[in-house]
Formats: sequence, structure tokens, C-alpha cells
Amino acid sequence: MSPLKTGLGPVARAGGGGKPRPSVSFEFSPPKGPKSEASLWEAIRRLEPLNPTFVSVTYGAGGSTRERTHRTVVRMLNETTLKPAAHLTCVEASRAEVDEVIRDYWDAGIRHIVALRGDPPGSLGGAYSPRADGYQNATELTAGIRAIAPFDVSVGLYPQVHPESPSVDHDIEVLKAKIDAGATRAITNFFFDFDGFLRFVERVRKAGVTIPILPGIMPVTSFEGLSNMSRRIGVTIPTWLSNLFDGLDEDPETRKLIAASVATEMCARLAEEGFSDFHFYTLNRADLVYAICRVLGVREPLTETPKEAAA
Ligand SMILES: Cc1cc2nc3c(=O)[nH]c(=O)nc-3n(C[C@H](O)[C@H](O)[C@H](O)COP(=O)(O)OP(=O)(O)OC[C@H]3O[C@@H](n4cnc5c(N)ncnc54)[C@H](O)[C@@H]3O)c2cc1C
Repeated sequence: MSPLKTGLGPVARAGGGGKPRPSVSFEFSPPKGPKSEASLWEAIRRLEPLNPTFVSVTYGAGGSTRERTHRTVVRMLNETTLKPAAHLTCVEASRAEVDEVIRDYWDAGIRHIVALRGDPPGSLGGAYSPRADGYQNATELTAGIRAIAPFDVSVGLYPQVHPESPSVDHDIEVLKAKIDAGATRAITNFFFDFDGFLRFVERVRKAGVTIPILPGIMPVTSFEGLSNMSRRIGVTIPTWLSNLFDGLDEDPETRKLIAASVATEMCARLAEEGFSDFHFYTLNRADLVYAICRVLGVREPLTETPKEAAA
């Protein structure tokens, strides 16, 4: 009987195995202090055995985390088996200053940068005004990075259109310009409109883009936080998602269970659609991402059952 006829859902079908192991990557933020540093490293250590393709560390608005981002990626490089990527933005810095950061990364052994324009400091979603002596956008930054050294460069992509963009077609043209400048991979913003995402990727592919497109997966742990952020960056929260979290403000355990099932189903369905690379916004926590990865077949080697061990 075909798996579809068993009546199993996408998660159970994923558990049946038989698909090649997808690639996963994990995004972290640099810690703000010693306590968050300890929990960040706990998450890193928990996810490390899943052997991600890379892990990335964000860059705070206006370069506010420049030192902390640098310290975190270099520690990952030196103390783990992970391949770290550093996010870098153009915000409030001259080209010379950004170039110095790029050279420092190369000298420290970092070989992958996630190149972004960045948002104006303090006002996510507000108007952006580039510095005259700085990189104007992520396309220029990508070219600048590649002019300095042969980094692997990832760039951002927006399944629901970037809030400043006039159209999907414009976003696709911008992506193509970034690829011409040397980008090798696109990581999408998080999204909840599954069918809209598939249509978007189809359009991007039809336009001739062949680089890997990594769906950005955000397991929702704080619905209020997610709603605020989504409003400012133009991501639609569907009614079914608000309904699922309605009335759970004081119930973090149930929120977590729901978050896991939403993200797991999304990933299992994407895998069935042929996606083989996934980027997780971990929010510096491992538990949900670890569980979702298992559903995708990303795990440490299978442990023997007692029966098999005795045979
Ligand atoms: C995966 C991911 C990770 C992120 N990480 C961070 C982070 O660590 N720190 C942070 O501050 N922000 C981060 N962001 C947010 C990002 O900085 C914002 O979304 C920002 O508003 C746009 O960044 P971008 O690199 O997509 O911009 P760009 O691609 O530069 O686009 C910005 C504007 O410039 C225009 N533009 C760009 N290139 C061209 C071109 N060649 N021709 C004409 N117009 C052009 C675009 O149309 C758009 O209007 C991340 C986003 C994503 C998707």
C-alpha cells in the first residue's frame, strides 16, 4: 500500500524514513551577558551532534553586536566541530569599517558570511537611509565581500516581498543581482503561508535562479513577540495560527507543544515538496529545533534496539 493510502499525516510519513537526510542550518544571536551566554552554549552543544551544514550568528542593528558576533563565531570555530557563518550588515558603517570586519573574519578562519543590508537601528520596519560612504545594500556588500576574499556568501530572501520592495519581480531581480555579485545561497525570512511560499519559490526558479533556497523556519514560542515582529517586517500571521495560540498567554508549555507541531508539519510538508535544506531560527533554544530535526530524519546515528543488540 502506498504511504498516502495508510492515512498517515506528513509527520508520520516522515518517520517512515526512506528519504535522503536533508541539510539543516541553525541561526543564533550573540549573547547579551553571562547568563544568556551559558544558555546559548547549552543550545549549541545540544544541536552540534546533528551535524548542521552551517550555523550562523546574527549581527545586531547598527553593528551593535560587532564584538559579540565576532567572539561567538570564532569560539564556535575553535571549540566545536561546527562551520560558523557571521551575519554582516551595511548599517551605520563606512565601507572601510565594514571591510575591516570582513578581513578580520577571514584572518580568524571564518569562510562564510550572511550579507544583509540591515534595518535602521531602533526602528525595525522604519525608513532606511544608507550612509554616503557605506555599502548601499546587500548586493554591494556581497560584491565587497567577494572582492576581499573567496567567502561563501548567503543572502536574505522574502517570500512575502520585502516591505520596501514594489513587487515580487523586483525582489527576484535583486536576488539575481546578488547572485551575479557572488551570492551562493538564499535564506528566506520566516513564513506561515505554505502555499504562498511554494508559489513564490516556483516564480524564483522560473526566473532562472538555481542556487539553494533555504526555507527559514521559526518555531513560535512567544506569539505576542512574533505578532509584533511580523507586523513590522511584513509577514502575515494567518487566522488559523492566531486561533491556535488564543488564550495561551499564561501557558508556555501548551504554546511550546503547539509551536512544535506547527513547525514540524511545515517542515515535513516542505520535505515532501522536495526541499532538502532547512534554516532554523533557533532563538538560542535547542529543544523544539532538535525535535523537528528528528522528524526530518536529521539525528545522531540510530541507536540499536535491545533485540538487535542481542542478535
Ligand atoms: C535570513 C535573514 C537573516 C537576517 N539577519 C539579520 C541580521 O543579522 N542583522 C540585521 O540587522 N538584519 C538581519 N536581517 C534583516 C534584514 O537586514 C532586513 O530585512 C533588511 O530590511 C533588508 O536586508 P536585505 O539584505 O534583504 O536588503 P537588500 O537586499 O539590500 O534590499 C534592501 C533594499 O535595497 C534594494 N536593493 C538591493 N539590491 C539592489 C539592487 N541590486 N538593485 C536595486 N535595488 C536593490 C532592495 O530592493 C530593497 O529595497 C535578516 C534577514 C534575513 C532574511
